[in-house]
Amino acid sequence: MRILVISDIHANLTAFKTVLDDARGQWDFVWCLGDVVGYGPDPNECVDLLNTLPHLCLAGNHDWAALGRLDVRTFNTDARRAVEWTQETLKPEAVAYLEALPVTFVIGQYTLVHASPREPVWEYILEPLVAALNFGHFETPYCLVGHTHQPVIYEQVSVNGDTVPREPRYRQPFTLNGKRQIINPGSVGQPRDQNPDAAYALVDLSANTFEHRRIPYDVADVQKRMRQHGMPERLIARLEHGW
Ligand code: ZN
Repeated sequence: MRILVISDIHANLTAFKTVLDDARGQWDFVWCLGDVVGYGPDPNECVDLLNTLPHLCLAGNHDWAALGRLDVRTFNTDARRAVEWTQETLKPEAVAYLEALPVTFVIGQYTLVHASPREPVWEYILEPLVAALNFGHFETPYCLVGHTHQPVIYEQVSVNGDTVPREPRYRQPFTLNGKRQIINPGSVGQPRDQNPDAAYALVDLSANTFEHRRIPYDVADVQKRMRQHGMPERLIARLEHGW
């Protein structure tokens, strides 16, 4: 079984379609790590497209924000405006889909969450120490997370919990060797690692390999729709810079 791993689509249909084109014929099932909506101009279209694929999906903080489950006063002004626009735009079917999303999922050797195993909707794993503290919060060898929009592998290298970060090596499958890892595929629709290309990953469950990938997409196309909807200029600009 080959898995397409995607996360943080953020209502960017152009990036989502580009990823599906790039990975065409190379997977059997999709694992989506949440934040399907929020920030981008195509929330209904992204939910609809995801629903045409055999998949499972986790809930992200922006999915919850769109449902009104979060106090958006903690969001910055631009993010709040995007949340309000998303709430006004989402169709009832898309709302029902998002409402049903679980916050954790354990399947075979993998635990899947949006943010972290310790705080599945909230916590940002941006450094090895935070990753190290999270290894005690899941049972499987591997955990897949999104949320930070930065592709990375955190590997537990010793029994006392020492954890090192590893940079992704794109389009080079690496063998999962049983060492415990927390792996982030990066973001499809709003990368934040200074690289604007859409990020995703492939897992081969029989070969036991994981592969990070990047693919450029038509950023101007999604920016045009964001301008048409009067979305904040800062959110429009960030897509071409990857932050
Ligand atoms: Zn996100």
